[in-house]
Amino acid sequence: MTDLSADDKAELLRQLIARELPDELGRFGPFGGRYAPETLMPALQRLTAGAQQLLADPDFQAELAAELGSWVGRPTALTPVPTLSARWNAEVWLKREDLAHTGAHKINNALGQALLAKHLGAKRIIAETGAGQHGVAAAAACARIGLPCVVYMGEIDMERQAPNVDRMRRLGTQVVAVTSGDRTLRAAIDEAFRDWVADPRDSYYLLGSAVGPHPYPYLVRELQSVIGREARHQILAACGELPDAAIACVGGGSNAIGLFHPLLGDSGIRLIGVEAGGRGEALGDNSATLATGRPGVLHGAYSMLLFDADGQIQETHSVSAGLDYPGVGPEHALLKLIGRVDYWSATDEQALAAVDELSAAEGILPALESAHALAGAKRFAREYPGSRILIGLSGRGDKDMPTLSQHEVGAYAHVAS
Ligand SMILES: *Cc1c(COP(=O)(O)O)cnc(C)c1O
Repeated sequence: MTDLSADDKAELLRQLIARELPDELGRFGPFGGRYAPETLMPALQRLTAGAQQLLADPDFQAELAAELGSWVGRPTALTPVPTLSARWNAEVWLKREDLAHTGAHKINNALGQALLAKHLGAKRIIAETGAGQHGVAAAAACARIGLPCVVYMGEIDMERQAPNVDRMRRLGTQVVAVTSGDRTLRAAIDEAFRDWVADPRDSYYLLGSAVGPHPYPYLVRELQSVIGREARHQILAACGELPDAAIACVGGGSNAIGLFHPLLGDSGIRLIGVEAGGRGEALGDNSATLATGRPGVLHGAYSMLLFDADGQIQETHSVSAGLDYPGVGPEHALLKLIGRVDYWSATDEQALAAVDELSAAEGILPALESAHALAGAKRFAREYPGSRILIGLSGRGDKDMPTLSQHEVGAYAHVAS
């Protein structure tokens, strides 16, 4: 991997904090970029210019802020959790994205991009979804903004996530079954791009995480940074000091970059992203892309990826559908390279144990994805007793009940983080 001096790393961090990255080519240091078919380049360039202009426009920001307040329910609460804190010998605070409309942070991005699409003159929205969470957020945002929406979803995922398919349809969205390729998220992304190539002027492609070709990693970071801005302000107001650590789960990386980006310049805060360690360290048994992956191109960006020995993209595993992705956003790849963020992993069993622990201690049922951040925080508390820890609780666990019901309550209480 690229050899960088301490000065190079400090300079890249400065550029990230100053939001000079990504550069015009969409690069975060060696990562990112725009690896897309020629037919999409004009649309990506138009979107980049439009996004930069609208995000800097006070009228657009005011309209977005009004919708985030009255429709999404922002600011979301910052909740102290005293019982858990006592058990862990730490001072733990939760940034409650589970309280955002539709139950997770994904709505911040879906609403922001839908509003952007309307201002850019799009006539219809295209989106892809794996487990259906981004599809539901996109469907809700499009209904609210008044744009028709088409969601591509793998046939296998449609069977596994039937309630979310129904939810999207009730929100007025057309769900298209993808029967090609692996018939899951990867094939759905390919189909969504294909649709966009066919009609790049009137369609807007609403991507669900901080991945993909430039400008998506930038755009999603800007829209999700509301999490970290609010949390920083709230924790300062509540205790007059910043936390020792901020910890979030990492799938594609959108909730984590949203929490971390506004904290990058606070050098006293340890930032820790927690990936899905799945059922073990063997290739195919986890989705710990940054921990075990190698660099390569997937879905339009150069970042870290999970390959098999033949260089094929690896099938991944996680008990949480939202973390089950073989890639990760390019900004995280750079943050790891320069050492500003550490990336840990938590296993399926550690995440299941954390769901039970938070639910019983504090009356908050977290999403299985978010439970990975909880497991990481528990480990941090053990290594640094007495510390103040801010956890990004990305979503609520109601959607996970079918999975949770396969495991008895307390079955993993003996599992240490
Ligand atoms: C989708 C999802 C994630 C993972 O996506 P990121 O882009 O990594 O944030 C995490 N938590 C919840 C609740 C999700 O729905």
